[in-house]
Amino acid sequence: MRKLAAGNWKMNGTAAALAEVKALLAAHPAPGCEVLLCPPATLIAQMAWTAKGSALKVGGQDCHPKAAGAHTGDISAAMLADAGASHVILGHSERRADHGEADALVAAKAQAAWGAGLVAVICVGETEAQRDAGKTLDVVRAQLAGSVPEEASAENCVIAYEPVWAIGTGRTPTLGEIAEVHAAIRATLTRRFGAEAAGMRLLYGGSVKPSNAAEIFAVAHVDGALVGGASLKAVDFGAIIAALSA
Ligand code: PEP
Repeated sequence: MRKLAAGNWKMNGTAAALAEVKALLAAHPAPGCEVLLCPPATLIAQMAWTAKGSALKVGGQDCHPKAAGAHTGDISAAMLADAGASHVILGHSERRADHGEADALVAAKAQAAWGAGLVAVICVGETEAQRDAGKTLDVVRAQLAGSVPEEASAENCVIAYEPVWAIGTGRTPTLGEIAEVHAAIRATLTRRFGAEAAGMRLLYGGSVKPSNAAEIFAVAHVDGALVGGASLKAVDFGAIIAALSA
């Protein structure tokens, strides 16, 4: 399976930030893993143009479950694809918290993404209170059950395990904790999707940076990373790509 380094720029970046993409492409013209950047929607077309002819893939950070209609401010999966996206992040904890997105909506968005030919990067992960209460695996299994539709496959679906308390905080779970959750995710997907689950990429996300990337990538069932802050700078994201390619 080809590993995946995915960057989530969140609500960061204007056209000037494309200089970082150019620097990344210059430093890593032939990465040994798949590389995806998900900028704000306003930059998708420009980033896709910048990435033309390279291996870099571009994705959205969300899409609407409907194909079109009276949904002011929203973006459909087909619009993302039309702008040059190949992937879309769905169910990120910031969307779940800021916009009240529940599992059923995330699943509907995944269906919409697949209808437009996009790969869905579906995020799951526990809050700190849920971890402290010993509920991490229950929470993650429930999110997988509710957010990942039956049509998921190794080609159209990537799962990102992102403990909410590790996102943007500089804190990370222990390697043992990451291993436990990733093994549980693989087992859960295998029970549901059989052999297909072996090919589904499981990303770890939450304060991945150049200094911890290699040790996290050595954990079983970690097939890449979803990276927030450290994906904004070519030198940092490049170091993470290099660690994953090693
Ligand atoms: C994220 O936004 O998905 C994320 C993991 O952020 P950070 O790497 O900044 O913790």
